Amino acid sequence: MLRSEEQSARARIGILGGTFDPVHVGHLVAAVNVRHELALDRVLLVVANEPWQKVGSRPVSDARDRLALVEAAVRSCPGVEASAIEIERGGLSYTADTVVELERRHHGADLYLIVGADVASSLDSWERVDELRGRVRLVVVNRPGAAMFEPGMLQGWDFSTVEIPDLEISSTDLRDRAATGRPLDFLVPLEAIRLLRERSLYVVDE
Ligand code: ATP
Ligand code: MG
Repeated sequence: MLRSEEQSARARIGILGGTFDPVHVGHLVAAVNVRHELALDRVLLVVANEPWQKVGSRPVSDARDRLALVEAAVRSCPGVEASAIEIERGGLSYTADTVVELERRHHGADLYLIVGADVASSLDSWERVDELRGRVRLVVVNRPGAAMFEPGMLQGWDFSTVEIPDLEISSTDLRDRAATGRPLDFLVPLEAIRLLRERSLYVVDE
């Protein structure tokens, strides 16, 4: 096989991990733009089972509910998929484990780990980060409010940046909006809003 044919035969998969508590259009805009810029076959929104950075600091919604919201949100978004891989594995969710499992499931695929600029600056604290560096290419997207992104922070990573529209949207703000009865419209995809209303998620008991 010619080298170019070998290359075109390799699947190109993006991994956007998160708590998605709840999913919002910032996540989707990042996923579709990175997919487009880097010609990825698909981008997986990998829903953390127990996000190790967040457990203990605040209550995290049930993983099945967060996954269902992501599934609803990607329904009208070709090339972007919800992944239950970390929920199926159970326990604390470490990206290093997820990447090993994705390599097993998609043998020979090129994996692109997508993170917002806020996350890019804390990668050094991640579990088994040295192992991750060798297994994925990193893609950093801009995020308003994130500390100035210094490429020097990412020494040892094979990384690129993708510029996306600045969207000052966070799950933290959305949880606050829901709790205080303010609208989530156009910040969260409609299908996900319908589901969270159906399940009465993020509302505070009166
Ligand atoms: P929280 O406020 O609860 O931390 P969040 O909005 O940051 O929620 P996460 O699930 O923590 O959402 O983020 C998952 C990934 O998506 C991270 O890499 C994060 O940087 C990225 N991301 C989240 N929101 C945006 C946004 N508005 N623009 C760009 N990237 C984003
Ligand atoms: Mg976050």
